[in-house]
Amino acid sequence: MSREFIHHVQRVSRLLQPIKSIPKGGAVKGVNVSRSYQLMVDMGIIRQSCPGMYTLLPLGNRALEKLKGIINVSMTNIDAQEILLPNLTDSKLWKQTGRLNEMGDELFLVKDRHKHSYVLSPTYEESITSLIADVKPQKSNLPLLLYQISNKWRDEMKPRLGLFRGREFVMKDLYSFDASTDSAERTYETVAEAYRSILDHIGVPYSIVEGDTGIMGGIISHEYHYLADIGEDTVVACNACDFRVNSVIYNGETCKKCGGEVTKKSAIEIAHTFLLGTKYSEVLQATVHTQEAEIPLVMGCYGLGLTRLLAASLEVLSTNEDLRWPKALAPYTVCVIPPKENSKESPAAHFADEIVENLVERNIDVIFDDRTQLTIGRRMLDAKRTGYPYVLVVGRYSMQENPLFELHDVNEGQRQDVSLDQLYNFFDNSESMKQIRSQIAA
Ligand SMILES: [Zn+2]
Repeated sequence: MSREFIHHVQRVSRLLQPIKSIPKGGAVKGVNVSRSYQLMVDMGIIRQSCPGMYTLLPLGNRALEKLKGIINVSMTNIDAQEILLPNLTDSKLWKQTGRLNEMGDELFLVKDRHKHSYVLSPTYEESITSLIADVKPQKSNLPLLLYQISNKWRDEMKPRLGLFRGREFVMKDLYSFDASTDSAERTYETVAEAYRSILDHIGVPYSIVEGDTGIMGGIISHEYHYLADIGEDTVVACNACDFRVNSVIYNGETCKKCGGEVTKKSAIEIAHTFLLGTKYSEVLQATVHTQEAEIPLVMGCYGLGLTRLLAASLEVLSTNEDLRWPKALAPYTVCVIPPKENSKESPAAHFADEIVENLVERNIDVIFDDRTQLTIGRRMLDAKRTGYPYVLVVGRYSMQENPLFELHDVNEGQRQDVSLDQLYNFFDNSESMKQIRSQIAA
């Protein structure tokens, strides 16, 4: 019955993954191309539809869904509720807050048949504050945390580097509403903790810095960065204490906290949080009723760029030739490669079916490279370039009396030859697998 079972597992022969072969002498890199962008296009993860807009192909979308899963768990943990706002916001709200002019040409504007104008939203403070003004939450709803994961638009003058600076992107935006500044500060810290747990789980090293409140306005802000040479931000970090700041707001040469030496590094911003105060709630009259009076709600907003985080993590981890994913985000965790058809090893093909079945039963995310007309080596190369964290090969040692299988840890560049028992034991008990599985289960 294995054959039928395997039919429900993703097979590489069925996968829409348009891989580009690398031209002799390596990939051509232009000024507008980063390592991760080039690899994502070459390995069939994304495809440009027009400047600054990208289709996520099946593998890219799968990684995005995994990231959404991690974020949803962590949002549930802090009692945040998911909503979905319309992508178009009445431009009159943006006029009221003054941002229609402030953002100018960066806003995509759409007109309906009655010539009424809407903003194709890059962010939703106007929209959500107007919702809350309308709904009037009870005191028992506070602190109120609402978030959505949706597409956002920004008409960049020069979209570049693929998902880093696109004109359409997927973002999680969270908004908090509190009855006092004290309580809003506590909420801000709770969200910061949740953000740290998301980024810890993904496992790519990150930096948290004091940020520029910029066009959002507000009282304080923090940015979360991955350090990478192609990053457009510069982070100033003290070598002696925990002082970290974006160079946009502090470009001094020594640390203003302890006077120590600082180091400057290029970085990619993946998340940005703001304690907004009452900037939006006063204008749009989002209030709560207390004993004394009707007071404007104290707000926070918290953005996390999903498509940007995906691209940035690939930028940090990948080699020049091969994609490397954080294990928790890889489109599939394990790629199983059965023997080539009509080869010496082909009698061992049944082991591959058995292994796939056992991994699926263990809730492990597996893809099966059924292109058995190709050599194992060729399929191994594709699996490594795609960056599946583990590759399991049913190859020459599987014909022994005590059959062994090649288990490749692709991120570590290590291989071990294991028996079936050792293989299942690894997937049941290894620390990194436990971490991946705990998130899926949660
Ligand atoms: Zn310092």
